[in-house]
Amino acid sequence: MTYGDGGRRLRAPVVELTDLRALERYRPADPGVVAEARRLKEAALLDFGLTESAVASWLYAKCRHQIPTTAVDTAAVVASGDGTCLLLYNPGFFVGLGLDGVKFVLFHEARHLVHRHLLAEPELREDPVFELAAEVSVNHVALIRLEREELPLLDGRPTGVDPRRVYEAYTADLTAHGLQPVPYETFTETDMRVYGELKRMHHPPVPDPRLCLHLGEDGVPLDQRTVDEITSSALLNSLLAARRGHAGAERELLDLMGRTEEGSARAARLWGNLGAGLLRGETARTRTVDWWQRWLVDVLGSKLRDGERLVYPKKRGALLAALGQDPMLARRGPVREKVLVIAYDTSGSMPDHVVRWLTDLVGRIDGVEAHWLSFDAVVMPFRPGERVYGGGGTSFQAVADYVEGRTEVGGRRLDVTPDAVVVLTDGYAPPISPAEPEKWIWLITQGGSEWPETHTPAMACHRVTTGSR
Ligand SMILES: [Zn+2]
Repeated sequence: MTYGDGGRRLRAPVVELTDLRALERYRPADPGVVAEARRLKEAALLDFGLTESAVASWLYAKCRHQIPTTAVDTAAVVASGDGTCLLLYNPGFFVGLGLDGVKFVLFHEARHLVHRHLLAEPELREDPVFELAAEVSVNHVALIRLEREELPLLDGRPTGVDPRRVYEAYTADLTAHGLQPVPYETFTETDMRVYGELKRMHHPPVPDPRLCLHLGEDGVPLDQRTVDEITSSALLNSLLAARRGHAGAERELLDLMGRTEEGSARAARLWGNLGAGLLRGETARTRTVDWWQRWLVDVLGSKLRDGERLVYPKKRGALLAALGQDPMLARRGPVREKVLVIAYDTSGSMPDHVVRWLTDLVGRIDGVEAHWLSFDAVVMPFRPGERVYGGGGTSFQAVADYVEGRTEVGGRRLDVTPDAVVVLTDGYAPPISPAEPEKWIWLITQGGSEWPETHTPAMACHRVTTGSR
């Protein structure tokens, strides 16, 4: 997706947009301009992380390559088929926009990815009216979230699709055909509402391909699987941040959920899988979904909570930049990595899909150092993906002894104090009383024993669904 200004010419990419070297080599810009553009980008991302958009902040944290290049006229997020995301930005474009404009453009691009992830129904994607609706929705939200009156200016002219101009065209079209337009607030209420209202027009405007390069045929590569992976990971981390007490992340997610789940079965399902309803205080006690997964996301969110609330001075980004420091260091997640231990009981049979889901979940949580253990009568650390072998006998005490630093495995002691310990087991072994029971989370397979729930002290305990899902 490429942010455009409506004035710049659409052109086919001059180099392969996934070819890092070619991008960097292509007509290098003035080093001073590049340095200033990079500074603006970093300052923008820092602000997102601290106050304005946890989702955008996490998304760009996952764009491993962020390349200033004149191979694009504006800025674009490229999702390539190998699972990586790149942010490409034209240095002159960023310098021309200034900090406020850069923030708007970066927010626009991030939100586009989220939109594409949540509302990816093929019949929508093929409709040019839906593309325009996306521009309207994204810029409407950007204006509100970033507290702007106007679109960013470039050379004194506003850039991008102005939702209010589109609304005027909509009102004129409907009125001319004797139809009743809805008020602007209703028009922009949800993403599908924007689309639905635009569809009522006799002549819905066809989005000008110059407004956003991804609208054109030779658009920017956007691999849907990569978009899904990166975006869902950013949403999960934002959700965990919200559950850890980041009020900004919570508000942003609630708003985003409200905008997208209505009218889209896909978006509603994705939010449901994520367990995001917890933010509304909905308890996920329903049998039709894997509510133990939602439960775990919630419990982990609270167990990994930061001890004290992180308070960042608002001007910190500007200060760091003024001191000539790279603000990048300050924006990546919590101050200290949280330590998570996941222990699989291999004495019985562990349901594969549960193990896979857990591995995937933990892999997508940023700011967490994960230690994987398998255990029967003894503890054996392993790496995700490695085959684990189980034998006879089960000892939870062996896990507690290792986690609490009393025993060595392979000549090594666990030299960190975990913030949470997840145990996946059938529960059949002598109960234990860990030193810090509030850190333990027990996932009990079907037919297993749920003793931790009634133990003294009681511990977080949930049965996992091991049926068809
Ligand atoms: Zn766009």
